[in-house]
Amino acid sequence: MRITFATEAAPGRPNEDFVAATPDAIVLLDGAGTPPGSESGCIHGVAWYARSLGSTLLAGLAQEDKTLTEILAEAIKAVASLHDFVCDLSHPGSPSATVVMLRRTADTLDFLVLADSVLVLDVIDTAEPMVICDDREAQVGAAYRMAMDALASGSPEHIAAHRAYVETLREHRNRDGGFWVAAVDPLAAEQALTGTVPADRVRAAALLSDGASRLVDRFHLATWRQVLDLLDGSGPEELIRRVRDAEHDDPDGSRWPRGKTFDDATAAYCRI
Ligand SMILES: [Zn+2]
Repeated sequence: MRITFATEAAPGRPNEDFVAATPDAIVLLDGAGTPPGSESGCIHGVAWYARSLGSTLLAGLAQEDKTLTEILAEAIKAVASLHDFVCDLSHPGSPSATVVMLRRTADTLDFLVLADSVLVLDVIDTAEPMVICDDREAQVGAAYRMAMDALASGSPEHIAAHRAYVETLREHRNRDGGFWVAAVDPLAAEQALTGTVPADRVRAAALLSDGASRLVDRFHLATWRQVLDLLDGSGPEELIRRVRDAEHDDPDGSRWPRGKTFDDATAAYCRI
């Protein structure tokens, strides 16, 4: 695969997204769980978690005899063992991450998507791309976000409402009927969306954290097809630049209500 990617933190914050690749595989994660001012039980933080899990996954992907689900379960367990003796991993705010994994073998493309990062496959001879996104968190969250969305983004009231929203959603995290993310429980891996497609049927793949996919799924300023064409023609940096332009055009969230005025944004494009 020929892979290009870009990642950019929200202004003034550490980047809690992670992306890394080998010639045959790529992983993209979006760390979550601890908004500013919230407790987590972990002394390392969300960025550390996303980087540790992401690099463990990338190493694990060399095991071609294992499924992506198995590799993810083992990596969740391995990263938990890196800090379970110093951190309180039973804390509901312990760091978590979304995961997208893509692996090219001789004939196939294996994928895994857990939580709300997006995988877009440009399938040969079809106009509409194949979009794989796990929207369980958005479905659970819809019932709780009204108070937050009614407030101006960036105001102290909005920041407090976002923190309350995240803390409320934690009660639904990694539970049946709720939503699933990589955190402490390796069983979350079994909840991921997975699949295999013939490699010669796919022209390209895009991996996006929700800070990048918001151009399509929150701002509605582009279609998935247009995002693939943009990545192909202008590269991942241009996609992120367009997201930042839109965020700057709507600083208080009145047009597009959202938890974070700016979010870490990561985009990767793989020519298969
Ligand atoms: Zn820790």
